[in-house]
Amino acid sequence: MTILLSTLNARYTHASLGLRYLLANMGELRELTRLQEFVIGAKTADVVERLLAHQPRIIGFGVYIWNVEETTRVVALLKRIAPQVSIVLGGPEVSYEVAEQPIVQLADYLVTGWGDVTFPQLCRQLLHGPKPLMKIHAGVQPPLDQIRLPYADYSDRDIAHRTLYVEASRGCPFKCEFCLSSLDKTAWPFDLDAFLAELEALHARGARLFKFVDRTFNLNIKSSLKIMQFFLDKLAAQPDDPVFAHFEVVPDHLPDALKQAIQLFPPGTLQFEIGIQSFNPEVQSVISRKQNNDKSADNIRWLREHSHAHLHVDLIAGLPGEDLDSFAQGFDRLVALAPHEIQFGILKRLRGTPIIRHTDAYGLIFDPYPPYTILATDCIDFATMQRLVRFARYWDLVANSGRFANTLPAILGGAPFANFMMLSDWLYAHTDATHRIALDKLAALVAQWLRSRGMAADRAAALIDSDYAGQAHKGRVKTAANAEATPQRQARHLAA
Ligand code: SF4
Repeated sequence: MTILLSTLNARYTHASLGLRYLLANMGELRELTRLQEFVIGAKTADVVERLLAHQPRIIGFGVYIWNVEETTRVVALLKRIAPQVSIVLGGPEVSYEVAEQPIVQLADYLVTGWGDVTFPQLCRQLLHGPKPLMKIHAGVQPPLDQIRLPYADYSDRDIAHRTLYVEASRGCPFKCEFCLSSLDKTAWPFDLDAFLAELEALHARGARLFKFVDRTFNLNIKSSLKIMQFFLDKLAAQPDDPVFAHFEVVPDHLPDALKQAIQLFPPGTLQFEIGIQSFNPEVQSVISRKQNNDKSADNIRWLREHSHAHLHVDLIAGLPGEDLDSFAQGFDRLVALAPHEIQFGILKRLRGTPIIRHTDAYGLIFDPYPPYTILATDCIDFATMQRLVRFARYWDLVANSGRFANTLPAILGGAPFANFMMLSDWLYAHTDATHRIALDKLAALVAQWLRSRGMAADRAAALIDSDYAGQAHKGRVKTAANAEATPQRQARHLAA
């Protein structure tokens, strides 16, 4: 008799934090419970075969926007081949708008919201009775000190090969309407000393890559400082075996004390994900996003000039009220601040988020299938949105990848959005593809485009040759000194 906890992760390197929370909180059922993770793209029949090899009595699936379609197929097959196994769903994708979802119709039970308490309770009922009367169980949200921390459930293999997700708090007090965290209304901190003791144990077991999933790491500066000090102490004690920490921060809140701590991190050890989303105040007001744009810009500039933090800044195209010109202005403003990466996302309609209240007023048309990407708005038609989607993909390949670091300024010139859009349209016209373009082919295409824009052939060749992209096929690729602990793209930015 086994309870299985399963999900399809987006990549092998992603270890599911949600499943480990459930495992840690199974109480007396813990001995019966096993984790079985997969990666999207696995064959449905193989997934089902491996799950059934455990002879499970219950299978709990973590369902997310990136795996809902494949998990639906897995559940459909399971219900045909092994109808006696109780299927319980949980996760953000199945916590809202549940009635219309095929996967919910196929499953036996559903836990919406937090599962830490409710999933084990449901399992007890399924194993020992009385049989639950309801299919849908609203997840109980206990005080955080009643939730067992899951970090001991990262295996030695996870520590050696995967990114370790950790959280010092849950929830977010802000209300950006495209974001699921806007429904939280507040943030709840875990006991900081207990949390740091878990980080200490992970570090002692060899963990070096820590990714914080806290929605706003810099809300409570006292806690942020204590966490940063933990990492600074580790860096001071073992400079040759450095830790690497990734945090999500709000851009307009960097008090001096935090800046001082940030400045102490050496290159390749600190990464910030910073949400700007839009620089347009009218769009920000429509989506209820509170952001001081000038202060945000000043802080990004300060981070670039006075710290070694690697900066990933998020922009979203397709927000209600944002036309192409407004987006281009925001993009150019951001490029001028020179973050290492601009994560150019296209708006998605996450289930449960209030953004849909603008559907009629702003002509929002979303793809009905996951990931529910925006297809058109009253400001941006479908064809233009498609160009933006390709822009985002090529931006990732050329700019964010760090493979064209020396060539990029020449591509962007004085009008970054307009010029990169030109390159993007040209690349698509010449390749008919946005994926599976070999790096040497991409390098040759970029050089050809530069020549078509009037650059001398020898200058274009020299520029490309000075980049990772121009070197890769010659086997002469530079790496940063501490590339082992540093994620690959950051290592390339450091080496550039
Ligand atoms: S986008 Fe960021 S700040 Fe806004 S609600 Fe979501 S997590 Fe909070």
